[in-house]
Amino acid sequence: MFAVAGEGLGTRVVLEELSRTYSDGTGLLPTDLVIEPGEFVSVLGPSGCGKSTLLRLLAGLDRPQQGRIRLGDEVVCDVGRGEFVPPRRRRLGMVFQDLALWPHLTVAANVGFPLRVTGVARAEAGQRVAEALARVELAAAAEKMPHQLSGGQQQRVAIARALVARPSLLLMDEPLSALDAALREQLRTEIRSLTTELGLTTVFVTHDQAEAMSMSDRIVVMRAGRVLQHGSPEELYHRPTDLFVAEFVGTFNPLPSGGGVRAEAVRVLGETPAAPDEVTLSGTVRSSVFTGGAYQLRCAVDGVDRLWTVPDRRAHAAGTELRLAVRADDVFTPAA
Ligand code: ADP
Ligand code: MG
Repeated sequence: MFAVAGEGLGTRVVLEELSRTYSDGTGLLPTDLVIEPGEFVSVLGPSGCGKSTLLRLLAGLDRPQQGRIRLGDEVVCDVGRGEFVPPRRRRLGMVFQDLALWPHLTVAANVGFPLRVTGVARAEAGQRVAEALARVELAAAAEKMPHQLSGGQQQRVAIARALVARPSLLLMDEPLSALDAALREQLRTEIRSLTTELGLTTVFVTHDQAEAMSMSDRIVVMRAGRVLQHGSPEELYHRPTDLFVAEFVGTFNPLPSGGGVRAEAVRVLGETPAAPDEVTLSGTVRSSVFTGGAYQLRCAVDGVDRLWTVPDRRAHAAGTELRLAVRADDVFTPAA
């Protein structure tokens, strides 16, 4: 289920036939998508596939050539009818990878900036800034200057700034890409808790499949301006409908008998027979690398080298002939 606990502010997002292409034909091709209130949706795909284009259209920073956008009950963009609601009236917050803070303003002034623009009274604004900073655990940094904060803290200030106007939709475009790995993982968890707590609908753009997997209710996979597949992280991982999706979200090992499986879907049979719901393979071990919880096994199956992840207790020597079993349930057949 979607996160509807919190304050229940999340808005429903509906895109209908939305498109924005550039002169070279790239951008966003006509796209339909529904995002439920409180849902955390990642838009995942390689660089240049149209993720930011989609987000900018949602934000109202760019205009589509075709289609409609609904936020809750309101149509905020309808090309056919010439309707267009500007960004500041869409009740959304935005965080970008490089949305720099104003260096000459304090943290509090940075966070309060969107309220000044819309003319919220000073006392009310002060209270909301304090609230937003508390949400990202930076209450103590209110009077600091941005350069006095770490990269992760600065990004949290940007998040507080996105939240200060109490949006019902949060848009984030690769907000963690500039941070180091440890901080990125910590902020994944923090962002997810925050949006759940607030009941916010969130659209999170990333090219990092692990990030999308670990944060999302649903992942929308894009390639070359199109949505290829959307579904829960588990659906995408276990039932990719498309070869590109299969390869983008994990390792895809085609089987000689047709279909494919994930690297960890195999078990080493030894002398025991396979279960009735299993398919067997035979392979020759090329190498076996211990990675802590498992071995990464390079195995030739039908003359083609494949990488498998097996949670065995000991290495399999190079040259060993192995019988491997895969559950029929784990086999999927993506379209090429
Ligand atoms: P992503 O965010 O997935 O990396 P973008 O949405 O930024 O991709 O870009 C999608 C495609 O549209 C790219 O091929 C890019 O070069 C092109 N594009 C984006 N913005 C513009 C623009 N303002 N003018 C021309 N082409 C653009
Ligand atoms: Mg982008």
